[in-house]
Amino acid sequence: MIQLERITLREIRLPLVEPFQSAGSIVAARRILLLELTDRDGVSVWSECVAEATPSYSPDTVDTCWLAISEWLAPRVLGVSFATARDVDVALQRGIRGHRMARAAIEMGCWALESMRESVPLAVLLGRASAVAREQGAEPRAHVETGIALGMLDTPQDLARRAKTAVAEGYRRIKVKVGPGRDVAFLHSVRSAVGDTVALIADANSSYSLDDAEHVRALEVMDVFELAMIEQPLASDDLVRHAALQKKLRTPICLDESIVSAASTEDMIAFGSGRIVNLKPGRVAGFSEAIAIHDLCARAGIPVWCGGMLESGIGRAYNVALATLPNFTLPGDLSPSARYWERDVVTPAWTMDSVAQIKIPLDRPGIGVDVDVDFVDKLTVRSTVLSSS
Ligand code: MG
Repeated sequence: MIQLERITLREIRLPLVEPFQSAGSIVAARRILLLELTDRDGVSVWSECVAEATPSYSPDTVDTCWLAISEWLAPRVLGVSFATARDVDVALQRGIRGHRMARAAIEMGCWALESMRESVPLAVLLGRASAVAREQGAEPRAHVETGIALGMLDTPQDLARRAKTAVAEGYRRIKVKVGPGRDVAFLHSVRSAVGDTVALIADANSSYSLDDAEHVRALEVMDVFELAMIEQPLASDDLVRHAALQKKLRTPICLDESIVSAASTEDMIAFGSGRIVNLKPGRVAGFSEAIAIHDLCARAGIPVWCGGMLESGIGRAYNVALATLPNFTLPGDLSPSARYWERDVVTPAWTMDSVAQIKIPLDRPGIGVDVDVDFVDKLTVRSTVLSSS
């Protein structure tokens, strides 16, 4: 039984160790919404909203999610009894269009709360909820493999140096942010620096158009770099043109921004718009939908991996738990805390071993790490308590 008594909603500012640039945005300090959900028995969990400051990746932003959570979503769940976190998902989607990142922050927190109340690790609870995991008799993985995502840098040489450092750190999969004019020379330089044994991904964040001959030419050239995939080359709502492009390319297209629900995943599969899915639970309204997408992809022979949204260690906990499901067969963007943060908001901080594996905290219920509340307090720029009474 889940019955929330209050949600403490806060915004923190967490400085990155280095600015992170993609085709859509550059972030030097991450604005992050954190939620602390407390039930009527005083059990509490922390969750994270993955929305960014600006609507460059998704229509959801820190400010729209603050509004949606406090005005429309929290009032639907506070003081109401739910048998499971899945029932919370149903209540949050009825009559609400969009606002998936806001919904996910509450919905995923309720999965963590359910895992606390049932005294089972979050990864185990997610595994039980996946029909594919149950059919395969799959236990959650004890470790998940991470790749690294590299933001845009000024020159191809800078990026190649950064990629070499990543390989020395143990990464075997490198994702590079690309965009028109910042693609072919950069990928060539990285490929030359790291060799053929490292899996290389180009993530375009929807920055190319089939209407632009130079963009098409660049995509054709990228097709010869033996990339593991090209991620989200075209617009997020353009499954038809992605399908046309996938027919021309040998390289698998991976969809990220386009996949917002199980329905859009079915469309991708029906059109042939891509062959791989970057599955971020925060983008698809939470774990209920993410598990449905995971299972759909597994049955269609489409591998998935878990992307990142520059989460703090709280959001990371949710992502690594999801990535223990059996169809997460490719390394995720699940880098350890030190990749992004001078100091993370959780203890212990997330770390990886010499072969880029993250250990899953299968010995604890909930998110498996403690939140450094004093540090979070210092980082907080605004907060509000939403309660049932
Ligand atoms: Mg992406």
